[in-house]
Amino acid sequence: MNIPILAYHKIDTQFEWGINTVSPRLFERQIRFLAENGYQTISLEDYLFNQKKVARPIVITFDDAYQSVYRFGYPILKKYGFTATIFVIADYIGKENGWDVQLNGTIDKHLSWDEIRFLIDAGWEIGSHSSTHPDLTRLAHADLWYELAASRQQLEQNLHLAIKFISYPFNRVNDHVMQQAIDAGYEGGCCLADKHIGTEKYIPFAIPRIGVYSIDTLFWFKQRLTSNLVYTLDRLRLKAICFCANGSIYYKRIKKDKKNIAI
Ligand SMILES: [Zn+2]
Repeated sequence: MNIPILAYHKIDTQFEWGINTVSPRLFERQIRFLAENGYQTISLEDYLFNQKKVARPIVITFDDAYQSVYRFGYPILKKYGFTATIFVIADYIGKENGWDVQLNGTIDKHLSWDEIRFLIDAGWEIGSHSSTHPDLTRLAHADLWYELAASRQQLEQNLHLAIKFISYPFNRVNDHVMQQAIDAGYEGGCCLADKHIGTEKYIPFAIPRIGVYSIDTLFWFKQRLTSNLVYTLDRLRLKAICFCANGSIYYKRIKKDKKNIAI
């Protein structure tokens, strides 16, 4: 299956020190390029089960479910007849992103239940991005189960639809997490850079995606979809970005340890 799956985070005009925010202007140029070149969006479910036959399929996903996606991303996608898949942090729906490291003091809000329902009505697919956005590979069994199963249950009960996919926070996953995701009822899981897969049954739980960042030019974006060389380079780049993203996990861990010492 050589269908590209894009992974965005924030679509916003607000400046941030990281690379996760793509401006609405750049986002529209990317989406216009896709539309003009005959791409059509499909859901992850269509992708995994080969359900929808279109000439040039592409999957667009958003991690973290920020309100900016609803405000800036949704109208642009709608304009070009596209839909997307959005991965929601279940315990942070309608709340500020207290789980994240605030480098420059900017606070971002997550989608509310009503905004998520609006996107479902507009044809979007909803997935889980855990309950609280931790590094899933470091959790004890009960905590991991809460992140995987309780987030899925919370979303299903409130949205009245089946939650089939998970995107792993910080792109941190291993065979144990994948097995627990299967046991929790998921049908697939999304990564960023390619993950080493232990056995064949985990292939749907290591769906590779192309991360799109603020540093990406339109030229890079186009090349990424069409050139094998850039495809290889991008896999290396994603690994470097994910390695850097681990920094925020360590930062949070140090902060937590300090707090524990203080107490
Ligand atoms: Zn995330």
